[in-house]
Amino acid sequence: MVRYSQPAHSEPFANVQGLSPSWPGVSAMMDGAEMQSTPPTVPARRPPRPNHRAVDAAAVAVGLGMGACVALAVTAETSSALSAPGGWATFGGRLAGLTGTYLLLIMLLLIARIPVIERTVGQDRLLRWHRRLGQWPIYLLTAHALLITLGYAEQAKTGVWHEFTILVGSYADVLMAIVAYGLLVTAAVTSIRAARRRIRYETWWAIHLYVYLALALAFSHQLANGASFVGHPLTRAMWVALWVATAGTVVIFRVVLPLARSAWHDLRVVGVHEEAPGVMSIVCSGRNVEGLVVAGGQFFQWRFLARGMWWQAHPYSLSAMPKSPYLRVTVKAAGDHSRRLTRLPIGTRVAIEGPYGAFTRHARNTNKVLLLGVGVGITPIRALLEDMDPWVDVTVVTRASSVEDLIFRDEIRSLVTNRGGQLHELVGSRRAHPLDQRHLRRLVPDVAQRDVYVCGPADFGDALVATCRRLGVPDDRIHREQFAF
Ligand SMILES: Cc1cc2nc3c(=O)[nH]c(=O)nc-3n(C[C@H](O)[C@H](O)[C@H](O)COP(=O)(O)OP(=O)(O)OC[C@H]3O[C@@H](n4cnc5c(N)ncnc54)[C@H](O)[C@@H]3O)c2cc1C
Repeated sequence: MVRYSQPAHSEPFANVQGLSPSWPGVSAMMDGAEMQSTPPTVPARRPPRPNHRAVDAAAVAVGLGMGACVALAVTAETSSALSAPGGWATFGGRLAGLTGTYLLLIMLLLIARIPVIERTVGQDRLLRWHRRLGQWPIYLLTAHALLITLGYAEQAKTGVWHEFTILVGSYADVLMAIVAYGLLVTAAVTSIRAARRRIRYETWWAIHLYVYLALALAFSHQLANGASFVGHPLTRAMWVALWVATAGTVVIFRVVLPLARSAWHDLRVVGVHEEAPGVMSIVCSGRNVEGLVVAGGQFFQWRFLARGMWWQAHPYSLSAMPKSPYLRVTVKAAGDHSRRLTRLPIGTRVAIEGPYGAFTRHARNTNKVLLLGVGVGITPIRALLEDMDPWVDVTVVTRASSVEDLIFRDEIRSLVTNRGGQLHELVGSRRAHPLDQRHLRRLVPDVAQRDVYVCGPADFGDALVATCRRLGVPDDRIHREQFAF
């Protein structure tokens, strides 16, 4: 294993190149890897700035779409149908069905990885919105099923159960819609925090994949039975267009683009080395890396195409700005996937999805920043430090229980020194370096005038954000990357 020790070096890929003879043992790890001889000098392209106008426009479009759904349900009704037995219940059911389905499509779009939205809002916030919205389609679709059954039963002057059997047996594709509803409820229940904690991430993820099947199953019963669509070719065409556009967006950004990007860059693992106890850097080399549009602090979903690993994609932040032909991530062995990365064979092909995330220099609102990284949370901080605009006044605070555990110590020192910033390395126990209000103010007296970037364990992040607020840092200047969705 190669340890970062001496001398201080800020070139993250030097050991891969064999440019630094002071990093012994690396060439041995490279055995069998296809090494490239061009020095890594061409940086990757910088992404365009976040586009808040595009996000605002998307929000307005979502609102208008919701209004259109309500209008669809209202215009499909007549006053005589409403005043007939079961009329209001049927109307309520149709309205709930249309709006519930529409919200489901919006939930899909929130996680469709649309680059401009990802870059501007950040994946963590998009996932939070997705999660918050999640309960409403379930409530609305439950109301849809109940009210339609009730309304039809009243209209036919029959029992609710009898009407239900008629709906299932005689109405086109209703049985498929019921299966779809079951799949949606399963996905929703397994996303409740208490349930989610009990199941493995991979199980939860696989259950979520069935939501796509659920939508496919539910689609046809709407067109076959929906009062807004039967005999209304224009609204039918608009509804189909909305579904096709949503499906197309998901397929393009979640499947086609990652596949094309992975094929284009043809990444392979060329080095795996230890940065600190239990923390490994994985260096990949590929084609056209200089064409990657990425900012320091962003992450990719990484799929290492090795036996038993190819089916899982995991998010890891870049721990250095890419330098053609190299990319580097740094991973702490947390569970089965990350532990296996330590034994990743050299030459393993790698597929990537991304870059994602808004934890970048673009989030900054002032010309002074405080970068705070603890544990493996230092990875995006390290890349962000490298990418930060040169005129920005940077202070970095890192904390670890021992010097050995200070990941990228030499690289960070070198980057901070080169830009004339300040570095506080806190080595010792949490009690010795609590990073509470008093301690942080002493370390960084002008913290309230800075943008603060925080990455580390959840409890550390929560405490730091609370401390910064108490010290007067406004919310729009606190930027946090969480290593959990
Ligand atoms: C935006 C982001 C950036 C990250 N960057 C880094 C990094 O630079 N270095 C690093 O060491 N870690 C990083 N992580 C954390 C890393 O993704 C998880 O530690 C890793 O996926 C754990 O997988 P596992 O199978 O080893 O462990 P497990 O024991 O299976 O999982 C541990 C926890 O990690 C989370 N997790 C597991 N699989 C996934 C997945 N596919 N997607 C999202 N979360 C998952 C779950 O909350 C789970 O409870 C990042 C996470 C996020 C969300």
